Amino acid sequence: MFKKNTCFQTLVSLFFFNTFLITQSHAQQVFSNNTYPLTDFRQPLDITPPALAGSFGELRANHFHSGADFRTNQRTGYPVYATADGYISRLRVQNSGFGLALYINHPNGFTSVYGHLSRFNPKIAQVAKDLQYKNKSYEIDEFPASDLIPIHKGDIIAYSGNTGSSGGPHLHFELRNTRTEETINPQLLGISIPDHIPPVIYAMYVYRLNGQSFNEFTPKQYFQVAGGNGKYNLNKVTTINLNGEVGFGITTTDRHDGQSGLNGVYSIELFVDGKAVYTSALERFSFENSRAINSHIDYPALMTQKRSIQKSFVDPGNPLKIYSNLANSGRVTFNDDKLHQVRYLITDSRGNQSTLNFNVQASSGASINAPAQASGINFPYQNSNEYQNSEIKVIVPKGTLYNDLNFVYKRGAKPQGNAYSAVHHIQNNLTPLHVGFELWIKADSSLAKHQQKAVIVNTSRVSQGGIFEDGYIKAKPKNFGSFFIAIDTISPTIVPVNIANGKNMRGLAKISFRISDNLSGIKNFNGYIDGKWVLMEFDTKTANLWHSFDERTSPGKHTFELLVSDMKDNVKRYAIEFYR
Ligand SMILES: [Zn+2]
Repeated sequence: MFKKNTCFQTLVSLFFFNTFLITQSHAQQVFSNNTYPLTDFRQPLDITPPALAGSFGELRANHFHSGADFRTNQRTGYPVYATADGYISRLRVQNSGFGLALYINHPNGFTSVYGHLSRFNPKIAQVAKDLQYKNKSYEIDEFPASDLIPIHKGDIIAYSGNTGSSGGPHLHFELRNTRTEETINPQLLGISIPDHIPPVIYAMYVYRLNGQSFNEFTPKQYFQVAGGNGKYNLNKVTTINLNGEVGFGITTTDRHDGQSGLNGVYSIELFVDGKAVYTSALERFSFENSRAINSHIDYPALMTQKRSIQKSFVDPGNPLKIYSNLANSGRVTFNDDKLHQVRYLITDSRGNQSTLNFNVQASSGASINAPAQASGINFPYQNSNEYQNSEIKVIVPKGTLYNDLNFVYKRGAKPQGNAYSAVHHIQNNLTPLHVGFELWIKADSSLAKHQQKAVIVNTSRVSQGGIFEDGYIKAKPKNFGSFFIAIDTISPTIVPVNIANGKNMRGLAKISFRISDNLSGIKNFNGYIDGKWVLMEFDTKTANLWHSFDERTSPGKHTFELLVSDMKDNVKRYAIEFYR
């Protein structure tokens, strides 16, 4: 009995030992070139085990997620600790974005970033408030000198929150290269998150490229994937017949221990007959390249089907530096009538791996001709391109396009109500752009006295901004689409939440409002008590605007005035008296 048991245990441990060795060697291979310091940084929260609602490099709308989103049990107010020694190098308050944020420069050449904070520690909060009063602005972006706010590893620098463009309480945490400002996967710097689960693969796609630019017309085949626990194959298909030049794409996510949320994977590698043709790895990236996620993925599929397919071929204008081992940009030609083995290897940030294996039979009967595309004007991706007619000018600067474009323009009728031009259909919303393009729309004679109130809007009537210049309204939309001129002559709305004329505010900590604008958007707000500027805090996502009483407001009678302006300088004024 004893012997048998030992034997069984030996077998079991041998089995696990082997598995362990294999997993370890893969992980070591993937991260063996990791030269980042692994013990310099501590976790920014004391919540154990640390858990992420969002991982580094995760696919988000128009950007790769630039850090790790730590879960905070759906609550705000957890102490946030300095991850290492250093000094506060940037102190930022924004209506949106990271909301309240701190940056610490560390002597080892890295900068840690903490976002969506509810409040700073008392010392930093005082520095921030002094700056806000000095600048007469809620929003501040200050770069304190290295001796102003020194920090020790483990100091409480702030409390976790939900400020700025945050979808719920959490801590957004980043580690950046101080010099280049590239953001780096914190798991490569020893900020470890428990994860023993290999990535999940959902589907594989074949794009029939045939030497052409990728766009919404590229013929695409969908293959469902079967399997699990790190081993996947195509559902009911072992061999795909293909001919000519193709690209591949994959949908995949990662999950962490004990978490139901879906996170991003670390790397995607594609091999044909054992030879690497494509690797993407989210080790680090620069913010100016992050929008190229729209080139990394099949953007038309995201826009039309809400699917995030990661392409395994790289567009010529894609500036991301996350790619390596590229053979012909990841485009593969099958023209030898032979059988080929294709293999995807997906790795998460802890080295857990999944594979997808399938065969391709190169077969001359399997060709698909590229469909006819709309005839337009050729916009080469590496050039600056322009289009103009008697009513509009379109300037697409160099560095905007990821692929050559067949540019198409159509004129539509003038819309009903608040429209001062025809609708101009500029290409469509399926072509990703890296930066905004210049759009000039000639002002209608009916606009005459409203030139300074005009903005360009899309057909959902979302303002793209606009200034009057040379008889045109000019804006810089971030996407192609359909646009016309509208005007904003209406002042913002101010809704008092807890205050009214003559009210006794004793015992209340703050004065609250909700503010909004009909079209061009809120430009600024200024509050005054007894004629003196006071700090009004604003949260874009809830439209809440408030002033927290402090020693500036003594007991007794006071006046309060609030001025809110929109982007077209329409101003709303609210003024009352109150007691405290
Ligand atoms: Zn985040």
